Amino acid sequence: MNRLTDAFPHIKVSDAPEDLICYGFDASGIEISPSAVVWPDTTEDVVKIMKYAYENTIPVVPRGAGTGMTAGAVPSSKGAIIISFEKMKRIIEIDPENLSALCEPGVINGKLQRELELMGLFYPPDPASLHFCTIGGNVAENAGGPRAIKYGVTRDYVMELEAVLPDGEVFMTGVKTAKGVVGYNLTGLFTGSEGTLAVVTKIRLKVLPLPEEVVTLLAIFPALESAGAAVSKIIASRILPRTLEFMDQETIRAVENFKPVGLPINAEAILLIELDGHPSAITKEAERIVALCQNLGADVQMAEDEHARNRLWTARRAVSPSLYHLKPTKINEDIVVPRNKVTEMLMRLRKISEESGITIVNFGHAGDGNIHVNIMVDKKDEQEYQKGLSLVEKIFQETLSLGGTISGEHGVGLTKKPYIGMELSKKEIEIMKAIKKVFDPKNILNPGKIFPE
Ligand SMILES: Cc1cc2nc3c(=O)[nH]c(=O)nc-3n(C[C@H](O)[C@H](O)[C@H](O)COP(=O)(O)OP(=O)(O)OC[C@H]3O[C@@H](n4cnc5c(N)ncnc54)[C@H](O)[C@@H]3O)c2cc1C
Repeated sequence: MNRLTDAFPHIKVSDAPEDLICYGFDASGIEISPSAVVWPDTTEDVVKIMKYAYENTIPVVPRGAGTGMTAGAVPSSKGAIIISFEKMKRIIEIDPENLSALCEPGVINGKLQRELELMGLFYPPDPASLHFCTIGGNVAENAGGPRAIKYGVTRDYVMELEAVLPDGEVFMTGVKTAKGVVGYNLTGLFTGSEGTLAVVTKIRLKVLPLPEEVVTLLAIFPALESAGAAVSKIIASRILPRTLEFMDQETIRAVENFKPVGLPINAEAILLIELDGHPSAITKEAERIVALCQNLGADVQMAEDEHARNRLWTARRAVSPSLYHLKPTKINEDIVVPRNKVTEMLMRLRKISEESGITIVNFGHAGDGNIHVNIMVDKKDEQEYQKGLSLVEKIFQETLSLGGTISGEHGVGLTKKPYIGMELSKKEIEIMKAIKKVFDPKNILNPGKIFPE
């Protein structure tokens, strides 16, 4: 610690036990304390920290808000330094003429959204954690959110990055322009690299004009199968809603027990559907969706005003914390299947849950085929916990057999690394490891992540 404060006296550093505990876990629930936490204020501070770590071969883990689900921001072993971006939270520029925004990595997603909306602009990626998570964390995880069905994920919006390489060199990649195809797409490679290739210090994001109007529908289904069928039928009817979110009965009940907003606890499933665009166009599309859901036996309600819409989204965003009231441990997966296989996957999950006797709660971005599968157990009950863990591989097998992928947005981190060989070929893993070596020959930046030993 003394060596750290001597090396960079103007940067805040701590090895206080309370800081080491608070910065040693994330939403995955995995805890491994670092040896110190540093809070840089500028890119130059990050350069100093990385040069020091490189010369002394000390592992460094970048950290946003710690809302990651796969322990990406948690050190993989003792001795690491955490770089927290809490002080680097400036929105540097919003440029309406070029439809872009330049910000530091510690900016909270929801804060950027609000600032843009005041100017009639729109940044679509909206992870359900948007009120807490950082843009730096979103870039590192290539985060998505409910609006990804229509607008895509973080990578679709990253125009340019400033990053510090593991040896302390500052590196710019990407373009300020709406298009650019010179050379390999390193900006795209850094986006989703889970803090293993470089430390991101500035981000230029593409933004859009704020849609004129939004319509929000709640479709209540008496049968799980019909909710799944509605997802496929809405997509096949060539309507592209901006959200198509799904909650099963366990999820609805968990939310109502935690933060009651009047969701229908006897429904087998609900869909939260939102359309945006020109009022006359979305009114017609909403009418078609209502008719389609009603034909499948659903009762459909429309949010009458902003307050009603916010109430529904508050419920949706309360899903994750509410599940801890069912069981203290959530083994959380975010599989994706082709959209027309959502019903089939939900049926297979139901079967796995019934056969194992372990509660599995499902919700998520059904319009993308992205189902958040939550295996609910108690870690203190070793037998139950191991049984829960054993279901992960089975669920991944079923996902892959339907043509899916084992993670749509949470990344690999520590929790999914034992499984990546189920999806990626040996050659792909070999190439990825070689890329890591090019950027980080000493393996000091977020080591032990993504790749199995
Ligand atoms: C309730 C809840 C709901 C969620 N909903 C969604 C959702 O809808 N969609 C979704 O995609 N995710 C979701 N998540 C997961 C999580 O919020 C996202 O992965 C988010 O992008 C993480 O941001 P963070 O700031 O918390 O990053 P952290 O958890 O702190 O870090 C995540 C990763 O980013 C790296 N990192 C952070 N900052 C930098 C940087 N400046 N440079 C390089 N690497 C960096 C870290 O090393 C780590 O590997 C949810 C999580 C919770 C708890």
